[in-house]
Amino acid sequence: MVVILKDNAEQKKVKTLTDWLENQGLSVHTVTGAYQTILGLIGDTSKVDTDLIEGLDIVAKVKRISEPYKNANRKFHPDDTVIDVGGVKIGGGIFQFFAGPCSVESREQIISIARDVKAAGANILRGGAFKPRTSPYAFQGMRTEGLELLLEAKKETGMPIVTEIMDASHIPLFENVDIIQVGARNMQNFELLKELGKTNKPIFLKRGLCSTYQEWLMSAEYIMAEGNQNVILCERGIRTFETATRNTLDLTAVPMLKEKTHLPVIIDPSHAAGIARMVKPMSFAAAACGADGLMIEVHNDPAHALCDGPQALRPEEFAEVTAGVQKILKAIKE
Ligand code: PEP
Ligand code: MN
Repeated sequence: MVVILKDNAEQKKVKTLTDWLENQGLSVHTVTGAYQTILGLIGDTSKVDTDLIEGLDIVAKVKRISEPYKNANRKFHPDDTVIDVGGVKIGGGIFQFFAGPCSVESREQIISIARDVKAAGANILRGGAFKPRTSPYAFQGMRTEGLELLLEAKKETGMPIVTEIMDASHIPLFENVDIIQVGARNMQNFELLKELGKTNKPIFLKRGLCSTYQEWLMSAEYIMAEGNQNVILCERGIRTFETATRNTLDLTAVPMLKEKTHLPVIIDPSHAAGIARMVKPMSFAAAACGADGLMIEVHNDPAHALCDGPQALRPEEFAEVTAGVQKILKAIKE
């Protein structure tokens, strides 16, 4: 980090600032030019409050050179993180399919979809029990009953399950859930992230609707700073000026995040496009650009789904996606 001082900076104040920075364990390298003085800060600057320094009357500008995230940073952890969920490995170039309905609606529905997606090649079953809906009048999910039905589907098929949490007070309810999802709307619910950081569950962290890569990685950092290193990132489309699709799928996130972080990166083309027929081509593109897997919404009767029917694939359509993706993965390996 560098601190650029104003040209008339009072020496006494500069000394106070330098001492204060050194007291935080940083070494301060002062470069005095003809017109400007620059303080180069060496050490772990992740806890330095840049706004506070920029507010001082002797400071013209503060610039970060290194990223403020440490745990999630590939610089300090060059190897890919591989998360083992009951024998299913996520990350490190192993491609996985997370599939299932937007919401758990009944025992018959979740068990039949679980069997179908497993037969089509899915390794992890998804299904919402606590649903973050835009309208308070829309179906809010089956809540604890939904969690129980997911556990039944897990027992029936042997597939690990991923489901969304909306409140830290619900963490005990998720004891038997394999992967806890944090939805786009909660990506910056910092108190929730901190509490999840104290658990040892893998956390499936979806990108916020309008979040930058750095904001997203800082949210991962909230979880990791508390001790839980098992974070999976999921790009699910961001809000742009385009209205033809529900969101805009930012596939650049894959190669860019692969540089910045060692965490697995999954693509969710269902929430990104919001249109079932867009899911296959975007899944193929995600596989081609190096994603670690896909999360896809699948329903046995999309027309009557209680949530997100227009973007849901039928099981046989999902099977076409998994078959095509396997061909792409083989082709890009050659
Ligand atoms: C979901 O996966 O069902 C969901 C609500 O996703 P998102 O948080 O990405 O909107
Ligand atoms: Mn959904």
